Amino acid sequence: MNMKSSTKSSVERDPRIVIVGAGMSGMLMGILLKQKGFGNFQILEKAAQIGGTWRDNHYPGVACDVPAYTYTYSFEPNCEWSRRFAEGAEIKEYFEGVCRKYELDNYIRCNTKAEAARYENNQWLITLEGGETLQADIVVTAAGVLHHPNMPDIPGLDTFAGHAWHSSRWDHSVDLSDKRVGIIGTGSTAAQIVGALAGKTRKLVQFQRTPQWVHPAFDASYSEWSKKLLRRMPFLTRTLRRVFEFSLFMTLSRLPVPGSYFQKMLDWGSRRALKQVKDPELRRKLTPDYVVGCKRIILSDQYYQAIQHPDSHLVCEGIEKIEPGGIRTKDGQLHEIDVLVMATGFQTHNYMRPMEVKGEDGLHLDDFWEPGAVAHRGVAVPGFPNFFMMLGPHSPIGNFSVIAISEAQANYVMKFIEMFRQGKAARVQPNLDATQSYNDAMRKVAKGTIWARGGCKSWYLDKSGLPAIWPGTFAAYKQSLESVNLDEFDLSPPGDGAVN
Ligand code: NAP
Repeated sequence: MNMKSSTKSSVERDPRIVIVGAGMSGMLMGILLKQKGFGNFQILEKAAQIGGTWRDNHYPGVACDVPAYTYTYSFEPNCEWSRRFAEGAEIKEYFEGVCRKYELDNYIRCNTKAEAARYENNQWLITLEGGETLQADIVVTAAGVLHHPNMPDIPGLDTFAGHAWHSSRWDHSVDLSDKRVGIIGTGSTAAQIVGALAGKTRKLVQFQRTPQWVHPAFDASYSEWSKKLLRRMPFLTRTLRRVFEFSLFMTLSRLPVPGSYFQKMLDWGSRRALKQVKDPELRRKLTPDYVVGCKRIILSDQYYQAIQHPDSHLVCEGIEKIEPGGIRTKDGQLHEIDVLVMATGFQTHNYMRPMEVKGEDGLHLDDFWEPGAVAHRGVAVPGFPNFFMMLGPHSPIGNFSVIAISEAQANYVMKFIEMFRQGKAARVQPNLDATQSYNDAMRKVAKGTIWARGGCKSWYLDKSGLPAIWPGTFAAYKQSLESVNLDEFDLSPPGDGAVN
């Protein structure tokens, strides 16, 4: 695949664009570029296949936790979902189908890892593993958020004699039916795994550091006849998508706002669900001491039944160390385990890193982000011209479907790419003042959110203890991306030292 900077007319240019990552956001960017007639782009994917999160996460029980009708691109609704909260394999299939339909294959380079990107002589140089260097006018990173496994720093982990893996690296070749399986963690992932595995292993032991609130999902399967109907009347699928999206607007999206009625509803529903746990001691252990919604709420119709299964055990004593035969807790007890699953989450503040990014005058992104990762409107960083991020710092990933967020961001980024094409700008970056005031205002609001004040720690928070995600409603965020305020950006016209 060869990328050449071409000038179509005196003002129209076809920029060389490199997208990093062929998951949901990278594919979306590719589709929009194709639709707008850009052809000089490539999508780099370090893995052998596309699909991001849904390629990596294939653990038992994996499913999405927003209604599947909203978990599609807006321009590609899907009437084939088998259930309200579609399983991971179905979602992966959906994205593979979209990739085929939009003929993105010719633009995607799998097994291609971008190791570094540096801005030099008014262009980006992207170094690939293996040494090849690509040149680009514009870089868009779409590396995902829940991507780099967070491996727990537990002494003795490497001495464990059985099978051990992170939830996003599931080894399906191991038959669990005769095994004692230990699961570390109590997040959404662990709840889904416990829900799926209870009663299907010799023994299931969940190691809990912090209990989580669990709300019923009210999942439901969709019948063949209903799918047939939707196939015949496509407008119905679009309507369902809108209805579910509206329900997210009215509920999840309002969660960060203090005192939201949705929080009260979640509180009531979660406390009621907890009553399914019959044993008062187990119920006490499963009761969090923080506000409902502070950590991402777990939606599950199975978890409380699963953890009460006679073969399931909840261990709340802290983990002392891991030994060849199992996990020793702080009370001195050894919990014998054959298979250890670390459902310990992800390093969510890495963004595109460990890819090394250097902007103008060699400015290292790690240095710029040393006090904490910031971006202007979640997509761009001062000092890094023509560099855009999908789902970057302070994106509203805690309160809406990530696909809708990516669409809002991709459409915003396209406005800058259009400027480049039309010869209105050859180099674009947010200015420092605008970025600072944007982030200062956001931090003020962030202090009042349920995530900061709810009495819990979670991956939503940055090292200062404030949410690293958008603290308002999704609607407000989306609106802020509807047009570009040129006062917030430094634009160099072509000829002004920038690429022509
Ligand atoms: P998570 O929410 O970050 O949970 C990680 C769990 O591991 C927590 O219980 C944490 O305990 C525990 N943990 C981490 N390090 C530990 C250690 N050293 N010792 C003991 N326990 C440790 O991760 P996740 O469950 O993978 O979920 C991440 C996000 O992915 C979710 O919030 C959600 O957005 C998304 N997700 C979505 C779905 C879905 O769509 N249905 C499914 C799965 C995941 P503490 O709480 O004490 O820190």
